Amino acid sequence: MAYKCDFCGKEFTASGHLHVTNKKKLYFCSSKCLKNSVVLERDNKKVKWTEEFRRFNSLNKK
Ligand SMILES: [Zn+2]
Repeated sequence: MAYKCDFCGKEFTASGHLHVTNKKKLYFCSSKCLKNSVVLERDNKKVKWTEEFRRFNSLNKK
């Protein structure tokens, strides 16, 4: 089964990190993504190495 990282958008299969809050389940491809999202509470639209950043910025380019 493949998961998509909720932070960087990368797909991964085995060695991911699952973070469960009382509202939802979040999947992360690495502890780096987990840390950035959960601990540092970074917005993935503002973090350069995420897919969300690329998508967000290409939509806003004029
Ligand atoms: Zn990731």
